[in-house]
Amino acid sequence: MSGSTQEAAPTAEFRHIRIPSAGEKIRIEDGKLVVPDQPIVGYVEGDGIGPDITKACLRIWDAAVEKAYGGTRKIHWCETFLGEKAAGLYDGNYCPDETLKVLQDLIVSIKGPLTTPVGGGFRSLNVALRQDLDLYACVRPVRHYAGVPSPLKRPDKVDIVLFRENTEDVYTGIEYKTGTPENEKLARFLREEMKAKFFEGAGLGIKPISAFGSKRLVRKAIQYAIDHGRESVTLVHKGNIQKYTEGAFRNWGYEVAREEFAGVTITEEQLYGEYKGKQPDGKIVIKDRIADIMFQMMLLRPDEFDVIATTNLNGDYLSDAIAAEVGGMGIAPGANMADFVAVFEATHGTAPKYANQNKVNPGSLLFSGVMMLEYMGWNEAADLITLVYPEVIGDGIVTYDFARQIDGATEVGTSQFADALIERIQGGVDLEAKRKAQREQLVKERKQREVRRLLQPMEEMLDTGRIPHTVNDLMTRSLITVSDDDSIDSAMHLISQNNISSLVVEPNGNGEWGILTRRDIISRVVRAAKNPLTTKVAEIAVRPIVSVPAETSIVEAAKLLEESKFTRLTVAQGKKIIGIVTETDIFNAVEKFGWAGEGV
Ligand code: NAP
Repeated sequence: MSGSTQEAAPTAEFRHIRIPSAGEKIRIEDGKLVVPDQPIVGYVEGDGIGPDITKACLRIWDAAVEKAYGGTRKIHWCETFLGEKAAGLYDGNYCPDETLKVLQDLIVSIKGPLTTPVGGGFRSLNVALRQDLDLYACVRPVRHYAGVPSPLKRPDKVDIVLFRENTEDVYTGIEYKTGTPENEKLARFLREEMKAKFFEGAGLGIKPISAFGSKRLVRKAIQYAIDHGRESVTLVHKGNIQKYTEGAFRNWGYEVAREEFAGVTITEEQLYGEYKGKQPDGKIVIKDRIADIMFQMMLLRPDEFDVIATTNLNGDYLSDAIAAEVGGMGIAPGANMADFVAVFEATHGTAPKYANQNKVNPGSLLFSGVMMLEYMGWNEAADLITLVYPEVIGDGIVTYDFARQIDGATEVGTSQFADALIERIQGGVDLEAKRKAQREQLVKERKQREVRRLLQPMEEMLDTGRIPHTVNDLMTRSLITVSDDDSIDSAMHLISQNNISSLVVEPNGNGEWGILTRRDIISRVVRAAKNPLTTKVAEIAVRPIVSVPAETSIVEAAKLLEESKFTRLTVAQGKKIIGIVTETDIFNAVEKFGWAGEGV
């Protein structure tokens, strides 16, 4: 196929697959992927436009590896067969067992698009691969490449990696058609035993979401964030409505972070609370967003998001929507992954009308290969491709799909586009300078976000789609303290100068903190006709006060306020008062952010 295909040793084990005799298999040792300098990597060229793009990409990947490592590293490609090519070789079998076995055995592979034959009881090939190799995470990086047409004003702000759970949710196919005995049986059970209410004749489907499935997906996303120096992992869910599936996904996600990555993760709550908006070095922020808000956020504030972990259906919608935002539908890469086994793939279909015309854009498969090189730890080769790509597009050298969107562009075929990229790669790129510029840009953007969080935490929450959950998210942190011996007159000056409604009163002899509000002063000093100059704070301060820990939920705080008849609660960390939450704070937050309900 490509110039790099190795001499193959026929193996009795396989009918058509030839494992290259040169090269070594990638292996797993002590829970880590070990990639030799001469690894054997599997590929499936795919149907329709598959052969055209695969041919082009193999040449580009090989050129990048050659240039990056001066010949010390080289991929030994092993062709495996799925789809129409497999059917031709294996007596009509589109998904031969030996292909599945080799893909599993080689650990890392890449595939072009495949035709799923219609009818005849065939499983979708992609579903078969996913199930047989237990590829539970669908990973889609989405970023913008300069020059690629996009409907966004600032597509450069999009740079996310989405981890979509691949094995459960409504995709398990547990569905019962209306009018069938199964549907009627389930409907009866739900109505009679579970007291569920729904319209007669409804089709019924089940949405299973498990701790096992959710946790392994989130674990992979967090590990990715750690390995790639990312800033945050956002759990995207619809838990405000589906509490025990989507809401549970969110909770299990936080649990994994807490239990398995405690040293390297903090929650967004801690970021705003404990760290006052300043992200500590080496810590990844774990946050969550409701799915519908996430769609808005990806248009309005995409730079706030980095790695995303989400359930199957949300991920399906979200990955295509985000890819489309950066004009990347045609060039969006992807991979389906198990713990180690990974199949990288073009995300578009076989576009049969363009088959064998040397016409289409190889971008999707090309960048899936870039992901693959990164997965192998061959970042220098990956970066070479990523960095020269915008230069070629910038020169106006593009395939037909981009040519129709870019004025004055020169349309070239798939292989000519590959030639242009290879020429650039071979010409050499100052990788270090470009990486340095990228790093500096990243640091600058992170700093800007940090400053906004520090200066306007409430506004930031609102603008970035965060819904407050606990008193920590609402409380006033800048507390002003007075002592029992201060006069009410000086306390009034403090309240007035700082435009606040209450002061914290230092502990008395019994160690009890107190609080002094405007309202207390009006009712117990002014109305009682006392002299503020001679009245001491101790006489008016309210003690004992109701203190709650920072992680108290808003619902809990509202209940306590009601029960205690106070208008405010103090928030304590151990014996120290760190904030105050008032009825007004809760009211304002709910008015601003809406109310997602308890448990979310
Ligand atoms: P498609 O093959 O993705 O093609 C739809 C349109 O997308 C094409 O007509 C073309 O648009 C554009 N397009 C796709 N790939 C392109 C590329 N590399 N460069 C430029 N433009 C590209 O979707 P489909 O027609 O719905 O599906 C065809 C077959 O693919 C079906 O058998 C389906 O089952 C299969 N499929 C396989 C996979 C997979 O293996 N991962 C995924 C999806 C679909 P214009 O005509 O407007 O230029």
